[in-house]
Amino acid sequence: MMAQYLEIKDRHRDALLFYRMGDFYEMFFDDAVAAAEALDIALTKRGKHAGDDIPMCGVPVHSSETYLLNLIRKGFRVAVCEQLEDPAEAKKRGSKSVVRRDVVRLVTPGTLTEDSLLDARRHNFLAAYAEIRGDGALAWVDISTGAFHVLPCPRVQLGPELARLGPSEIVICEAQEADPAGFVPEFRDRMTELSRASFDSSSARRRLTGLFGVSSLDAFGAFTLPEVSAMGAIVDYLDITQKGKLPLVRPPVRESLRGTMQIDAATRRNLEISQSLSGGREGSLLTAMDRTVTAAGGRLLERRLSSPSRDVEVIRDRLDAVSFAIDNRRTAERLREELRKVPDMERALSRLGLERGGPRDLAAIRSGLTQAETLAETLSAEPVSTLIRQNMGFLTGHAELIDLLDAALIAEPPLLSRDGGFIAPGFDGDLDECRTLRDEGRGVIASLQQKYAEMTGVTSLKVKHNNVLGYFIETTATHAEKMRALSDTFIHRQTTANQVRFTTLELSELETKIHNAGGRALEIEKRLFETLRVAVLDRAPAINDASKALAELDLTTALADLAVSENWNRPEVDQGREFLVTGGRHPVVERALRKQGGEKFVANSCALSDGGDGAAIWLLTGPNMAGKSTFLRQNALIALIAQAGSYVPAESARIGIVSQLFSRVGASDDLARGRSTFMVEMVETAAILNQADDRALVILDEIGRGTATYDGLSIAWATLEHLHDVNRCRALFATHYHEMTALSDKLVGVENATVSVKEWEGEVIFLHEVVKGKADRSYGVQVARLAGLPPAVVKRARTVLDALEKGQADNAARPKAIIDDLPLFAAQPPAPAPAAPKESAVEKKLAGVSPDELSPREALQLLYDLKALI
Ligand code: ADP
Repeated sequence: MMAQYLEIKDRHRDALLFYRMGDFYEMFFDDAVAAAEALDIALTKRGKHAGDDIPMCGVPVHSSETYLLNLIRKGFRVAVCEQLEDPAEAKKRGSKSVVRRDVVRLVTPGTLTEDSLLDARRHNFLAAYAEIRGDGALAWVDISTGAFHVLPCPRVQLGPELARLGPSEIVICEAQEADPAGFVPEFRDRMTELSRASFDSSSARRRLTGLFGVSSLDAFGAFTLPEVSAMGAIVDYLDITQKGKLPLVRPPVRESLRGTMQIDAATRRNLEISQSLSGGREGSLLTAMDRTVTAAGGRLLERRLSSPSRDVEVIRDRLDAVSFAIDNRRTAERLREELRKVPDMERALSRLGLERGGPRDLAAIRSGLTQAETLAETLSAEPVSTLIRQNMGFLTGHAELIDLLDAALIAEPPLLSRDGGFIAPGFDGDLDECRTLRDEGRGVIASLQQKYAEMTGVTSLKVKHNNVLGYFIETTATHAEKMRALSDTFIHRQTTANQVRFTTLELSELETKIHNAGGRALEIEKRLFETLRVAVLDRAPAINDASKALAELDLTTALADLAVSENWNRPEVDQGREFLVTGGRHPVVERALRKQGGEKFVANSCALSDGGDGAAIWLLTGPNMAGKSTFLRQNALIALIAQAGSYVPAESARIGIVSQLFSRVGASDDLARGRSTFMVEMVETAAILNQADDRALVILDEIGRGTATYDGLSIAWATLEHLHDVNRCRALFATHYHEMTALSDKLVGVENATVSVKEWEGEVIFLHEVVKGKADRSYGVQVARLAGLPPAVVKRARTVLDALEKGQADNAARPKAIIDDLPLFAAQPPAPAPAAPKESAVEKKLAGVSPDELSPREALQLLYDLKALI
């Protein structure tokens, strides 16, 4: 057995080997040591190897999922090795024969399908990044739902895209010249290296056409080589981990970087889109907006919020659908009631595809499709919006499968098919017959007890059952004599401390009959399960379309519900460059304030408009705690929410499509990556200044805070000028450097705004109102007092401040002089690069050559080819 173990382990060195032995998965050697520590279970020993004890630990098969999840979370991969035959079979080959075993599945973070291992409301993506001659592509799949996507992705976009998708695992090529992990270090520990062969584009093409049963991939889109390579690597990795059982992957959908609003990782974090800064979901935009009632609807909302669209038509269609649901409240409410009963069909289907599903998954498909038909009926009487009409088409036409599943399955089938009992009576004649035989046999056995009691006069005897003896008659030692006296009938089986056990010929015959009938019934059920599974898989594409349509309806009605109850309004989205919000609110802060039951959130307007030429920037000053950050973020969120296709928390909004959203908000140390606050701030600011185009929306909060005053002021100053002159984008810029307000006189696109406060009897009162103009003071000392600084310190600070301010007043001309003397910001938009000279045929050919990969013979041939081109 150890030889077999070592042979299998040798093939799976980078994973823990779960080696099936009866009812346990056992681990040995280093695996055992690592697993025992990670799972906090006992480490024992078993036998010896090369003279040393073999460390061992094990987990029971029936509860193995919890342990698996724990190990995966801790970064392990697990190879599950099963017994491939009955131990009795092995015995037949010889007494020393070992049961055949092999790995049936490699469990990795990106390839989970079990409900217990997954978050129902989150996608679980497996991604692959491929690069061919400098062009990159990213592909990703959720094998628990089958969704498959690909995107051309230059290196600089890899970080933002990974941040958007949040894949659990990323497959990369071991031989990539420049290590992609070095490029996105925060994802390094989720990366799995695969051999170059997995990424080879021609075998990838073969793998993909094979998987989708097509002769060419063109049907799905014109894919570039790196895209094919990335998709092929995913399929190969699935093949490796699922040991040949490929999941139901849907045909790939090609995305384009230009189709969605670009949001980089820092911005996502700062805006707390799907996670709050503290790491949980509570406090995120997603949680504040999520009113969906199905898991698939919840996943769709997360997807929309992480990839808002840039396509005005798409956004308007989505908004029309929400408007429809608002205008038809009653229908929408009914839909939501029906949707509540919709199970997670996508995941059930994928488990069935991977042969990991059970009767309950069949039942999920049945009830999901039944609900789909009901929903279509509810909607049929209404004049619905375009998007809803499109989706309605997918909800119907499932009657045949529903009827089959209805007839075949009991109302609430068990999770596993193993023990049978899920096929409804009346569906299969043979099955019914076997079940009757089995049940009748049990009835006869029950009546035997009475009969034997009368025969022997032992009224206390019992007919019982256990796994070792099967059925037997049990009596106490005192009464055993009476049974022994009838030894023609009662055959002694066992004597325990207090009991004596007998059997009879009649009893064992009955038992065999029950056993056979039961076994046959189970076999029939297993066969029927397989038939039903195939029937479901035959309709997989239609079922997937139906689940997508249900998710869309769920999201639509959920957004309508949110809009009505929270008083959100429909934004206008167009191709212009305006950003006009009246009465805007921050959805998360508003919710938090309401929960606390104190202050009401003060709505604020924002109007960024460039008057036709160039930048539109608001420079926001005001004391700490006035509400600057909140205002900045709420406007970024309103743009994002609108482009995700939802109503927005504002009285009205007109938003010219935002192509990129950038935010640099607050200061957070990124110690894990060894950068100081200031460094992080500068890296993020650099990214914005280098990338923002004139359709971007940028929010910058207190940049320069992390360094000495004049350094900070200078950096903030130059940054604002760059945004205005070079990026020419829309921006909200909050600062505590009041000196900067003078910039509005010089830069036409810059306006001053401030968050108003009132001073009353020496105390500062925050009004949280954003108004045009500049702040006069910063009220820092008052805020410090509110924060509970010791009175003595506050008093002293006030004295120092008075002295400083007096000094400044005496020298009144100075700050203004500084501003006037400063030369105008010199940066100009970069001159267009001179047109590249036309490439010659030889240059073109050479560009495609990678010398490292050429054999001497190929190199010589190349030389001939080049020569021929002259
Ligand atoms: P700043 O960035 O100016 O220091 P914040 O935006 O962090 O201020 O806001 C400080 C606190 O003020 C927030 O935690 C919030 O509770 C409250 N607040 C901010 N804006 C508003 C508003 N518009 N209405 C009500 N309360 C607000």
